[in-house]
Amino acid sequence: MWDRIIFVPIATIIGLIMGSFYNVLIYRLPRGISLVNPKRSFCPVCKHTLTWRDNIPLLSYALLKGQCRYCGARISVRYPIVEASTAFLFLIAVYLSNNVIDLVALWMLFSAGLVASAIDFEYMLIPDSMVVITAGAGILWSWSHNHLFWSVLTAAFAFGIFFLIRLLSKNGMGFGDVEYFGALALFLTPFSAVIAVLLASVSALVFVVPMFFTHKVSRKTRVPFGPFLAIGTSISIFLNFHV
Ligand SMILES: [Zn+2]
Repeated sequence: MWDRIIFVPIATIIGLIMGSFYNVLIYRLPRGISLVNPKRSFCPVCKHTLTWRDNIPLLSYALLKGQCRYCGARISVRYPIVEASTAFLFLIAVYLSNNVIDLVALWMLFSAGLVASAIDFEYMLIPDSMVVITAGAGILWSWSHNHLFWSVLTAAFAFGIFFLIRLLSKNGMGFGDVEYFGALALFLTPFSAVIAVLLASVSALVFVVPMFFTHKVSRKTRVPFGPFLAIGTSISIFLNFHV
């Protein structure tokens, strides 16, 4: 029996806790810092080890007024934003799921999408671990929705076409994007994959064009495509085309 109401508080709490962990991933993965050493989080400025009191999702940031307890350095607003966004996405997933398998697949998709996007915006790279988690989630989802065969074909085509675009554009598209969309396409069917790419392109334009006119970007600025691929794919999944 699938009872959504029960999952609302669970999703909120797990979302906040996982969001706190994703902040660790976003900081450590691109810097090559081990996830287990040091075991406890530390202030990036004074390196002071943080206690549980400094690590309560949303609450610590609010109580400390966005400053390190030990050195007073400003804590990036990214921390509470990632925590709140994870909880919000976990709740949306509850609403969009019909069973626990769907829920787990969507939590994985949104989690990897959030971590990959934050890293992609800062470093122009998508960690392989996030591609693998996305691929696993896609297989789970399309198996549960009885279109695994079509989704594997879609993913193979998507990977091939993006790889070709990368070659033709002389590496204008990163290999991370090629891998990542290959993984995302495991959620999709041929038609919904086309829609996903269109939505990704439109959302990227909506993001870039205003910046272009305010001269925040030039023709040479590189804009990460990963976050928009994640957005386009997520919307396409929920438009629910069965072709
Ligand atoms: Zn500090």
